Amino acid sequence: MQQVIEGAGRVLMPGLIDAHWHSMMAAPSLGAILSGDHRYLTAIAAAESTRTLMRGFTSVRDVGGNSFGLKQAVDEGILPGPRIYPSGAMISVTSGHGDFRQAGDLPRTMGAPGPTDLEGDTAIADSPDEVRMRVREQLMRGASQIKLTAGGGVSSPHSPLDAVTFTPAELRAAVEAAGNWGTYVTVHAYTSQAIREAIDAGVKVIEHGSLMDDDTARLIGQKGVWLSIQPFPDALAEAFPPGSFERQKADEVFVGNNHAYDLAKKYKLKTAWGTDVLFSATLATQQGAILASLTRWYTPAEALVMATGTNGELLQLTGKRNPYPGEIGVVKEGALADLLLVDGDPVADISLITRPEQSFKVIMKDGVIYRNTL
Ligand SMILES: [Zn+2]
Repeated sequence: MQQVIEGAGRVLMPGLIDAHWHSMMAAPSLGAILSGDHRYLTAIAAAESTRTLMRGFTSVRDVGGNSFGLKQAVDEGILPGPRIYPSGAMISVTSGHGDFRQAGDLPRTMGAPGPTDLEGDTAIADSPDEVRMRVREQLMRGASQIKLTAGGGVSSPHSPLDAVTFTPAELRAAVEAAGNWGTYVTVHAYTSQAIREAIDAGVKVIEHGSLMDDDTARLIGQKGVWLSIQPFPDALAEAFPPGSFERQKADEVFVGNNHAYDLAKKYKLKTAWGTDVLFSATLATQQGAILASLTRWYTPAEALVMATGTNGELLQLTGKRNPYPGEIGVVKEGALADLLLVDGDPVADISLITRPEQSFKVIMKDGVIYRNTL
Protein backbone atom coordinates (compact mmCIF):
# COMPACT_ATOMS: atom_id res chain seq x y z
CA MET A 1 0.00 0.00 0.00
CA GLN A 2 1.32 3.39 -0.94
CA GLN A 3 1.18 6.28 1.46
CA VAL A 4 1.50 9.85 0.22
CA ILE A 5 2.90 12.44 2.62
CA GLU A 6 2.38 16.07 1.67
CA GLY A 7 5.67 17.83 2.43
CA ALA A 8 4.14 21.29 1.97
CA GLY A 9 7.39 23.07 1.19
CA ARG A 10 9.45 21.38 3.89
CA VAL A 11 12.92 19.99 3.13
CA LEU A 12 13.48 16.28 2.57
CA MET A 13 16.97 15.11 3.50
CA PRO A 14 18.75 11.79 4.00
CA GLY A 15 18.81 10.27 7.48
CA LEU A 16 21.88 11.25 9.48
CA ILE A 17 24.83 8.89 9.91
CA ASP A 18 27.21 8.94 12.88
CA ALA A 19 30.50 7.38 11.75
CA HIS A 20 31.97 7.02 15.23
CA TRP A 21 29.41 5.74 17.70
CA HIS A 22 29.52 3.27 20.56
CA SER A 23 26.00 1.87 20.92
CA MET A 24 26.83 0.02 24.12
CA MET A 25 28.85 2.77 25.79
CA ALA A 26 27.31 6.10 24.79
CA ALA A 27 24.65 6.41 27.48
CA PRO A 28 25.74 4.49 30.61
CA SER A 29 28.08 6.21 33.07
CA LEU A 30 31.61 4.88 33.37
CA GLY A 31 30.66 3.70 36.86
CA ALA A 32 27.75 1.67 35.48
CA ILE A 33 30.04 0.09 32.88
CA LEU A 34 32.67 -0.83 35.46
CA SER A 35 29.95 -2.32 37.70
CA GLY A 36 29.70 -5.01 35.04
CA ASP A 37 25.93 -5.71 35.11
CA HIS A 38 25.61 -6.35 31.40
CA ARG A 39 21.86 -6.91 31.40
CA TYR A 40 21.35 -3.47 32.91
CA LEU A 41 23.83 -2.03 30.41
CA THR A 42 22.04 -3.68 27.51
CA ALA A 43 18.73 -2.18 28.64
CA ILE A 44 20.36 1.27 28.69
CA ALA A 45 21.85 0.72 25.25
CA ALA A 46 18.51 -0.43 23.84
CA ALA A 47 16.71 2.65 25.14
CA GLU A 48 19.48 4.89 23.79
CA SER A 49 19.26 3.17 20.44
CA THR A 50 15.62 4.25 20.10
CA ARG A 51 16.48 7.80 21.14
CA THR A 52 19.30 7.81 18.57
CA LEU A 53 16.88 6.99 15.75
CA MET A 54 14.42 9.60 17.02
CA ARG A 55 17.17 12.23 16.79
CA GLY A 56 17.24 11.51 13.06
CA PHE A 57 20.24 9.18 13.08
CA THR A 58 19.17 6.31 10.87
CA SER A 59 22.64 4.66 10.77
CA VAL A 60 25.61 4.39 13.08
CA ARG A 61 29.05 2.98 12.45
CA ASP A 62 29.78 1.27 15.73
CA VAL A 63 33.52 1.41 16.43
CA GLY A 64 33.79 -0.74 19.50
CA GLY A 65 31.46 -2.68 21.76
CA ASN A 66 29.43 -5.85 21.64
CA SER A 67 26.51 -4.41 19.66
CA PHE A 68 25.69 -7.62 17.76
CA GLY A 69 22.66 -8.53 19.88
CA LEU A 70 21.33 -4.99 19.84
CA LYS A 71 21.74 -4.85 16.07
CA GLN A 72 19.86 -8.14 15.72
CA ALA A 73 17.02 -6.87 17.92
CA VAL A 74 16.76 -3.64 15.91
CA ASP A 75 16.88 -5.50 12.58
CA GLU A 76 14.16 -7.88 13.78
CA GLY A 77 11.94 -4.93 14.67
CA ILE A 78 11.95 -5.71 18.39
CA LEU A 79 12.81 -2.09 19.13
CA PRO A 80 13.30 1.04 17.00
CA GLY A 81 16.93 1.93 16.42
CA PRO A 82 19.39 2.89 13.72
CA ARG A 83 21.12 0.54 11.32
CA ILE A 84 24.26 -0.61 13.12
CA TYR A 85 27.52 -1.29 11.28
CA PRO A 86 29.23 -3.25 14.07
CA SER A 87 32.96 -3.65 14.71
CA GLY A 88 32.38 -5.84 17.72
CA ALA A 89 35.07 -5.81 20.36
CA MET A 90 37.63 -3.05 20.20
CA ILE A 91 40.88 -4.98 19.88
CA SER A 92 43.81 -3.71 21.93
CA VAL A 93 47.15 -4.86 23.33
CA THR A 94 47.86 -5.44 27.00
CA SER A 95 48.05 -1.97 28.60
CA GLY A 96 46.65 -0.32 25.44
CA HIS A 97 43.54 1.75 24.78
CA GLY A 98 40.77 -0.73 25.55
CA ASP A 99 42.56 -2.53 28.38
CA PHE A 100 40.56 -1.60 31.47
CA ARG A 101 41.99 -4.37 33.67
CA GLN A 102 43.53 -3.80 37.07
CA ALA A 103 46.84 -5.08 38.36
CA GLY A 104 45.11 -7.98 40.11
CA ASP A 105 43.81 -9.24 36.76
CA LEU A 106 47.36 -9.91 35.54
CA PRO A 107 48.99 -11.97 34.22
CA ARG A 108 46.98 -13.46 31.39
CA THR A 109 48.02 -16.65 29.60
CA MET A 110 48.49 -16.25 25.84
CA GLY A 111 45.29 -17.15 24.03
CA ALA A 112 43.12 -16.92 27.14
CA PRO A 113 40.59 -14.09 27.41
CA GLY A 114 41.04 -11.45 30.08
CA PRO A 115 38.12 -10.85 32.49
CA THR A 116 36.88 -7.85 30.51
CA ASP A 117 37.09 -9.70 27.17
CA LEU A 118 34.28 -12.07 28.03
CA GLU A 119 31.43 -9.66 27.36
CA GLY A 120 32.85 -8.92 23.92
CA ASP A 121 33.21 -5.15 24.26
CA THR A 122 37.01 -5.23 24.22
CA ALA A 123 39.56 -7.90 23.35
CA ILE A 124 43.21 -8.11 24.28
CA ALA A 125 45.68 -9.52 21.74
CA ASP A 126 49.47 -9.63 22.07
CA SER A 127 50.84 -11.39 19.03
CA PRO A 128 49.97 -11.67 15.34
CA ASP A 129 48.32 -15.03 16.02
CA GLU A 130 46.19 -13.64 18.82
CA VAL A 131 45.24 -10.63 16.70
CA ARG A 132 44.15 -12.93 13.87
CA MET A 133 42.03 -14.98 16.25
CA ARG A 134 40.34 -11.96 17.84
CA VAL A 135 39.67 -10.44 14.41
CA ARG A 136 38.15 -13.68 13.16
CA GLU A 137 35.98 -13.94 16.27
CA GLN A 138 34.48 -10.53 15.49
CA LEU A 139 33.96 -11.47 11.85
CA MET A 140 32.25 -14.68 12.93
CA ARG A 141 29.82 -12.61 15.02
CA GLY A 142 29.02 -10.41 12.02
CA ALA A 143 31.44 -7.47 12.25
CA SER A 144 31.17 -5.28 9.16
CA GLN A 145 34.63 -3.80 9.83
CA ILE A 146 37.37 -4.37 12.40
CA LYS A 147 38.57 -1.82 14.96
CA LEU A 148 42.02 -1.85 16.54
CA THR A 149 43.56 0.70 18.86
CA ALA A 150 46.92 1.56 17.29
CA GLY A 151 47.95 4.08 19.93
CA GLY A 152 47.18 5.42 23.38
CA GLY A 153 43.72 6.77 24.20
CA VAL A 154 41.97 9.18 26.53
CA SER A 155 39.54 6.99 28.47
CA SER A 156 41.94 4.09 29.02
CA PRO A 157 43.56 3.98 32.46
CA HIS A 158 47.02 2.75 31.41
CA SER A 159 47.98 3.98 27.93
CA PRO A 160 49.93 7.23 27.46
CA LEU A 161 48.85 9.19 24.37
CA ASP A 162 52.27 8.84 22.72
CA ALA A 163 52.31 5.03 23.01
CA VAL A 164 52.26 3.03 19.79
CA THR A 165 50.56 -0.18 20.74
CA PHE A 166 50.44 -2.85 18.01
CA THR A 167 53.58 -3.93 16.16
CA PRO A 168 53.61 -3.75 12.34
CA ALA A 169 53.31 -7.56 12.19
CA GLU A 170 50.24 -7.49 14.43
CA LEU A 171 48.60 -4.74 12.36
CA ARG A 172 49.31 -6.66 9.16
CA ALA A 173 47.77 -9.81 10.68
CA ALA A 174 44.56 -7.89 11.34
CA VAL A 175 44.48 -6.33 7.88
CA GLU A 176 45.08 -9.72 6.30
CA ALA A 177 42.36 -11.49 8.30
CA ALA A 178 39.84 -8.72 7.62
CA GLY A 179 40.86 -8.60 3.94
CA ASN A 180 40.40 -12.36 3.57
CA TRP A 181 36.85 -11.81 4.83
CA GLY A 182 36.30 -8.99 2.34
CA THR A 183 36.39 -6.04 4.70
CA TYR A 184 38.78 -3.54 6.26
CA VAL A 185 40.49 -2.42 9.44
CA THR A 186 40.07 0.96 11.08
CA VAL A 187 42.32 2.10 13.91
CA HIS A 188 42.09 4.48 16.80
CA ALA A 189 45.20 6.69 16.40
CA TYR A 190 46.07 10.21 17.51
CA THR A 191 49.78 10.52 16.79
CA SER A 192 51.67 10.65 13.51
CA GLN A 193 53.68 7.54 14.33
CA ALA A 194 50.61 5.45 15.16
CA ILE A 195 48.89 6.67 11.99
CA ARG A 196 51.91 5.97 9.75
CA GLU A 197 52.44 2.45 11.04
CA ALA A 198 48.76 1.71 10.50
CA ILE A 199 48.79 3.06 6.95
CA ASP A 200 51.95 1.04 6.18
CA ALA A 201 50.11 -2.10 7.32
CA GLY A 202 47.16 -1.45 5.01
CA VAL A 203 44.67 0.12 7.40
CA LYS A 204 41.94 1.99 5.47
CA VAL A 205 40.51 4.38 8.07
CA ILE A 206 42.06 6.46 10.85
CA GLU A 207 39.78 7.31 13.76
CA HIS A 208 40.59 10.72 15.34
CA GLY A 209 44.03 11.76 14.01
CA SER A 210 43.94 14.60 16.52
CA LEU A 211 47.71 14.91 17.07
CA MET A 212 48.91 14.31 13.51
CA ASP A 213 51.47 16.58 11.86
CA ASP A 214 51.37 18.17 8.43
CA ASP A 215 53.37 15.43 6.65
CA THR A 216 51.16 12.72 8.07
CA ALA A 217 48.01 14.49 6.93
CA ARG A 218 49.53 14.71 3.45
CA LEU A 219 50.33 10.98 3.55
CA ILE A 220 46.73 10.17 4.52
CA GLY A 221 45.61 12.09 1.43
CA GLN A 222 48.18 10.48 -0.88
CA LYS A 223 47.21 6.98 0.22
CA GLY A 224 43.48 7.65 -0.13
CA VAL A 225 42.94 6.69 3.51
CA TRP A 226 39.84 8.01 5.31
CA LEU A 227 40.01 10.28 8.32
CA SER A 228 37.09 9.70 10.69
CA ILE A 229 37.32 12.68 13.01
CA GLN A 230 35.05 14.20 15.66
CA PRO A 231 34.50 17.78 16.84
CA PHE A 232 34.91 16.91 20.53
CA PRO A 233 32.65 19.06 22.73
CA ASP A 234 34.18 20.22 26.04
CA ALA A 235 31.56 18.20 27.92
CA LEU A 236 33.25 15.02 26.69
CA ALA A 237 36.43 15.92 28.60
CA GLU A 238 34.35 16.82 31.64
CA ALA A 239 33.33 13.16 31.95
CA PHE A 240 36.79 12.68 33.51
CA PRO A 241 37.66 14.10 36.96
CA PRO A 242 39.87 17.24 36.89
CA GLY A 243 43.54 16.41 37.36
CA SER A 244 43.09 12.73 36.48
CA PHE A 245 45.37 11.00 33.95
CA GLU A 246 42.39 10.68 31.60
CA ARG A 247 41.48 14.37 31.91
CA GLN A 248 45.03 15.52 31.16
CA LYS A 249 45.01 13.38 28.04
CA ALA A 250 41.60 14.71 27.01
CA ASP A 251 42.81 18.29 27.27
CA GLU A 252 45.85 17.55 25.07
CA VAL A 253 43.79 15.76 22.43
CA PHE A 254 41.13 18.46 22.30
CA VAL A 255 43.68 21.18 21.55
CA GLY A 256 45.24 19.06 18.79
CA ASN A 257 41.87 18.27 17.30
CA ASN A 258 41.34 21.83 16.10
CA HIS A 259 44.60 21.68 14.13
CA ALA A 260 43.67 18.27 12.73
CA TYR A 261 40.51 19.74 11.20
CA ASP A 262 42.61 22.45 9.57
CA LEU A 263 44.88 19.77 8.09
CA ALA A 264 41.91 17.72 6.90
CA LYS A 265 40.73 20.76 4.95
CA LYS A 266 44.20 21.72 3.73
CA TYR A 267 44.80 18.28 2.15
CA LYS A 268 41.14 17.71 1.19
CA LEU A 269 41.14 14.41 3.05
CA LYS A 270 38.24 12.00 2.75
CA THR A 271 36.72 13.13 6.02
CA ALA A 272 33.97 11.36 7.91
CA TRP A 273 32.10 12.88 10.82
CA GLY A 274 31.23 11.19 14.10
CA THR A 275 30.63 12.02 17.75
CA ASP A 276 32.37 9.38 19.92
CA VAL A 277 29.94 10.12 22.77
CA LEU A 278 30.91 8.03 25.78
CA PHE A 279 29.43 7.48 29.23
CA SER A 280 26.85 10.29 29.09
CA ALA A 281 23.13 10.07 28.32
CA THR A 282 23.03 13.87 28.50
CA LEU A 283 25.76 14.32 25.93
CA ALA A 284 24.09 11.74 23.70
CA THR A 285 21.11 14.11 23.41
CA GLN A 286 23.58 16.58 21.84
CA GLN A 287 24.38 14.31 18.89
CA GLY A 288 22.82 16.76 16.41
CA ALA A 289 24.40 19.72 18.19
CA ILE A 290 27.84 18.10 17.86
CA LEU A 291 27.21 17.84 14.13
CA ALA A 292 26.13 21.47 13.99
CA SER A 293 29.38 22.43 15.77
CA LEU A 294 31.24 21.46 12.58
CA THR A 295 30.38 24.95 11.36
CA ARG A 296 33.55 25.96 13.19
CA TRP A 297 35.35 24.59 10.13
CA TYR A 298 32.72 23.91 7.46
CA THR A 299 29.64 25.50 5.95
CA PRO A 300 26.30 24.05 7.09
CA ALA A 301 25.91 22.40 3.68
CA GLU A 302 29.36 20.79 3.93
CA ALA A 303 28.61 19.54 7.45
CA LEU A 304 25.28 18.02 6.37
CA VAL A 305 26.83 16.33 3.33
CA MET A 306 29.55 14.88 5.56
CA ALA A 307 27.01 13.35 7.96
CA THR A 308 24.94 11.85 5.13
CA GLY A 309 26.44 11.18 1.68
CA THR A 310 30.11 11.16 2.71
CA ASN A 311 29.55 8.94 5.74
CA GLY A 312 27.41 6.77 3.47
CA GLU A 313 30.42 6.33 1.17
CA LEU A 314 32.54 5.29 4.13
CA LEU A 315 29.97 2.61 5.03
CA GLN A 316 30.42 1.15 1.52
CA LEU A 317 34.02 0.22 2.41
CA THR A 318 32.50 -2.85 4.07
CA GLY A 319 32.02 -4.30 0.56
CA LYS A 320 30.36 -7.69 0.55
CA ARG A 321 30.19 -7.61 4.35
CA ASN A 322 27.86 -4.62 4.20
CA PRO A 323 24.93 -5.67 6.41
CA TYR A 324 22.63 -3.25 4.54
CA PRO A 325 23.58 -3.33 0.85
CA GLY A 326 22.37 -0.37 -1.15
CA GLU A 327 23.04 3.31 -1.54
CA ILE A 328 22.80 5.15 1.74
CA GLY A 329 22.96 8.77 2.87
CA VAL A 330 21.29 10.17 -0.25
CA VAL A 331 17.79 11.09 -1.39
CA LYS A 332 17.55 9.15 -4.61
CA GLU A 333 15.26 6.69 -6.32
CA GLY A 334 16.45 3.16 -5.59
CA ALA A 335 18.55 4.16 -2.56
CA LEU A 336 17.78 2.93 0.94
CA ALA A 337 14.76 4.92 2.16
CA ASP A 338 16.26 6.59 5.24
CA LEU A 339 14.64 10.02 5.14
CA LEU A 340 13.90 13.04 7.30
CA LEU A 341 11.31 15.70 6.56
CA VAL A 342 12.59 18.90 8.13
CA ASP A 343 10.36 21.75 9.23
CA GLY A 344 12.62 24.38 7.69
CA ASP A 345 15.83 24.44 5.66
CA PRO A 346 18.80 22.99 7.58
CA VAL A 347 21.25 24.39 5.01
CA ALA A 348 20.04 27.89 5.87
CA ASP A 349 19.66 27.14 9.58
CA ILE A 350 21.68 24.14 10.78
CA SER A 351 20.43 24.67 14.33
CA LEU A 352 17.26 22.86 13.20
CA ILE A 353 19.10 19.55 13.63
CA THR A 354 19.86 20.39 17.26
CA ARG A 355 16.09 20.28 17.98
CA PRO A 356 15.09 16.99 16.39
CA GLU A 357 11.76 16.64 18.26
CA GLN A 358 10.44 19.86 16.70
CA SER A 359 12.35 19.89 13.41
CA PHE A 360 12.02 16.35 12.12
CA LYS A 361 8.35 15.98 11.27
CA VAL A 362 8.86 12.64 9.58
CA ILE A 363 11.55 10.09 10.41
CA MET A 364 11.76 7.11 8.07
CA LYS A 365 14.22 4.23 8.12
CA ASP A 366 14.22 1.58 5.43
CA GLY A 367 10.84 2.80 4.22
CA VAL A 368 9.24 2.46 7.66
CA ILE A 369 7.87 5.59 9.35
CA TYR A 370 8.99 5.96 12.96
CA ARG A 371 7.59 9.47 13.42
CA ASN A 372 5.00 11.43 11.49
CA THR A 373 3.71 14.50 13.30
CA LEU A 374 2.22 16.15 10.22
ZN1 LIG B 1 35.57 5.87 20.14
